[in-house]
Amino acid sequence: MSYSRALDPLPLHSAEHTKHHEFYARLAEGRLTTSRCRGCGRLDWPPRLFCPECASDAFEWVDLPSDGTVHGFTVQETGVPVGFSGPLVFAIVKVGGLRIFAPILTRDPAALAVGVRVRFAPVRVADDPKGAPRHLVAFEPA
Ligand SMILES: [Zn+2]
Repeated sequence: MSYSRALDPLPLHSAEHTKHHEFYARLAEGRLTTSRCRGCGRLDWPPRLFCPECASDAFEWVDLPSDGTVHGFTVQETGVPVGFSGPLVFAIVKVGGLRIFAPILTRDPAALAVGVRVRFAPVRVADDPKGAPRHLVAFEPA
């Protein structure tokens, strides 16, 4: 079967496709990590491999807390992509001083509110073209 990149909206996680492959490998292990600049200590989300503060390209991966709070969210009830069950909740979650844009996995969006506690819950999505599993960052009500 041929593979059409235009039909695959998900990031490719392997080392041959992204310098962030270590991030995705940790994600597959259930770890939420990001990059910290070795030059100035800046922590960023999403992970970066070039520091906008001090222009260093030396980084280390650090684990983030698995708990966060909802900073804001929206609920998509119509136009849900094939393969997903709605409604979909997209949120900005405050985690360890960072703001992470990610879905919240819940069947009861009405129970969500700004300030509600959520926990990291990586979600497995479609495998990559070579059959390797892929995961994305997501949260669920704590
Ligand atoms: Zn820096």
